[in-house]
Amino acid sequence: MRKLNIRLQREVSERQKVEKNLQVAEQTLAQSSKLAALGEMSAAISHELNQPLAAMRTYLAGAKLLLQRKRPDEALTSFQRIDDLIGRMGAITRQLKSYARKGGEDLIAVDVRSAIDGALEIMEPQLKARQISISKTLPIEPVFILGDQLRLEQVMVNLVRNALDATSTVVLPEIEILLLADETAILTVRDNGEGISDLNELFEPFFTTKKPGDGVGLGLAISTGIITDLGGRLVARNGSVAGAVFQVTLPIIKNS
Ligand code: ADP
Repeated sequence: MRKLNIRLQREVSERQKVEKNLQVAEQTLAQSSKLAALGEMSAAISHELNQPLAAMRTYLAGAKLLLQRKRPDEALTSFQRIDDLIGRMGAITRQLKSYARKGGEDLIAVDVRSAIDGALEIMEPQLKARQISISKTLPIEPVFILGDQLRLEQVMVNLVRNALDATSTVVLPEIEILLLADETAILTVRDNGEGISDLNELFEPFFTTKKPGDGVGLGLAISTGIITDLGGRLVARNGSVAGAVFQVTLPIIKNS
């Protein structure tokens, strides 16, 4: 009996050791995948900011030369190019600012319905400028998730802006927003636009099919980062008939 007890105790302590090791391994894995994501993003960002910087230096040298040679009109064109590049760098840093990580303690119960309404309010000028049908189906009851409203709105703004862009050549453009509260909160943004051309590259930082000036390719990379931070998932597919379907799934907090 004593021998059996000792063996059992040894097994229990070994199991505890294994569990502890597993926990440490899991934490290390989470940490290193975060670092890998950060590394990938930093490399992409510095590449993306260095390009316009180098171009600006060239345009500036060109403009200087043109002014010395008394050709101000041509110099003005160079200044305009520099202005465009500054605009592009501004767009990148604005996007990144919205991603600036907040501490976990800032997370509060957020009603996904308010984030949807907030985002549509932000987008109102762009939506009004287009003849587009927007349908919105939300539950009557609040759908609470643990997050922060600003970053959730940011994701929604990105999805709606993309849907707007994707439907720019469609005769009767439509965007459908649907929120379901089941085991999780499921937020779907569907459009009848051109559809997704490259489902593999979609979430990569700086992947864009838009013209320079129209897109920098950070919206979806940042949106995925935000949703993953909040414990959820962002996935995309093409609709069965036309257009694209983006779906955000987030854990619900019950009884809030
Ligand atoms: P950006 O909008 O600056 O290009 P995003 O990361 O938001 O950056 O989007 C990356 C690319 O994903 C877009 O350029 C486009 O090719 C594709 N995409 C995103 N949303 C849609 C959509 N609703 N329909 C079709 N393609 C889309």
